[in-house]
Amino acid sequence: QLRAQSELFVTRAEVEQVRLEARRDPLTRLGNRREVDDRWPALLAACRAGGKPLAVAMLDLDRFKQINDRFGHAVGDGVLVAMARLLRENTRAADLAARVGGEEFLLVLPDTDGERGLEICERLRHCVAAYPWSTLADGLSVTLSIGVAFAPPYDADVLTARADAALYAAKIKGRNCVAVSGKAG
Ligand code: GH3
Ligand code: MG
Ligand code: MG
Repeated sequence: QLRAQSELFVTRAEVEQVRLEARRDPLTRLGNRREVDDRWPALLAACRAGGKPLAVAMLDLDRFKQINDRFGHAVGDGVLVAMARLLRENTRAADLAARVGGEEFLLVLPDTDGERGLEICERLRHCVAAYPWSTLADGLSVTLSIGVAFAPPYDADVLTARADAALYAAKIKGRNCVAVSGKAG
């Protein structure tokens, strides 16, 4: 019976493993869209309940198609993996960092106000721009654009739309920059 139970235990661990893997992006090991859908509501609810701020950032690599075209898909993949590492190194365990599109990442920063949120985004932008990309491929350089929005409102759809609009503004402004939702310039 003990043996049967331990086999059942292993099976449950395996089930849990599969459940976790389904929330992970295999290339970068970051969370994926499903992980965001899982975790974001609780982060929002906790900040709302505590009257705390929260920042949401959409990050998108600049001219990534050109990087693939010029250096090949394998180098492009290497850029995504390095990008994920920079994201991990620049965020806290309580933050949510996920790969939500091909070369698009979402950051949810609980308990983070406008000033601090902007500071974190600006630091990330700088880290990516200053990274020694030429160690990956001769002549390679990488930048990204960031759109950031802040709660309240504690509404995932509104915050996503605002961060997306800010990201679009950052691209228009000329890329390699951070744009804040609702602010001109
Ligand atoms: P922009 O500055 O406006 O964001 O330009 P962009 O070229 O980054 O934007 P676009 O959306 O046109 O191109 C994104 C590219 O990302 C196209 C696609 O081939 C590439 N891509 C998506 N997923 C992956 C991936 O997993 N690996 C690699 N190497 N490339 C990917
Ligand atoms: Mg994109
Ligand atoms: Mg892009």
